[in-house]
Amino acid sequence: MPQGDDGTDSAITEEQVRIMLYRYNQSFYDGALDFTVAFRALKRRAGQYQPGDRTITISQHLLEFPLDRIRTILKHELAHAAVHQLHEGRRKPHGQEWKLEMGRMGIQDPDTTHDMQLAPYRYVFECTGCGQRTGRYRSCRFVEQTDRYRCGDCGDRFEQIT
Ligand SMILES: [Zn+2]
Ligand SMILES: [Zn+2]
Repeated sequence: MPQGDDGTDSAITEEQVRIMLYRYNQSFYDGALDFTVAFRALKRRAGQYQPGDRTITISQHLLEFPLDRIRTILKHELAHAAVHQLHEGRRKPHGQEWKLEMGRMGIQDPDTTHDMQLAPYRYVFECTGCGQRTGRYRSCRFVEQTDRYRCGDCGDRFEQIT
């Protein structure tokens, strides 16, 4: 997966997410699942599957997450698509069939939530002027060279607190 110039992980692109979903479909379902992929700036949810138009929508905020977390969320949504397209009858959203599909993709005891806030930031910064906080899931220029950045609201410096 992508590496920044300084050897640290960098955020992955929408295209890379599309490719990951496509590869999972190939390797776990022989390409049998039918879906389109959309990206939106969802804040609360990491992703969702809409059965009506067979769309997997991924939050653009997810792209900053650690890679293992991204993989799990993609499989989570793909499992919803698989339950909808491959299982008959009434099914609970995160019921037996969904857990079976997650198991097929190598994930036992899956997390049944779509909430993004569960992954804590690895790096947290606080503005020394107004106190507002910002976080990053992985190292990036902001983490490496925090001194170069100023708060968008008050213009003061950030201090790393974790
Ligand atoms: Zn779900
Ligand atoms: Zn500030």
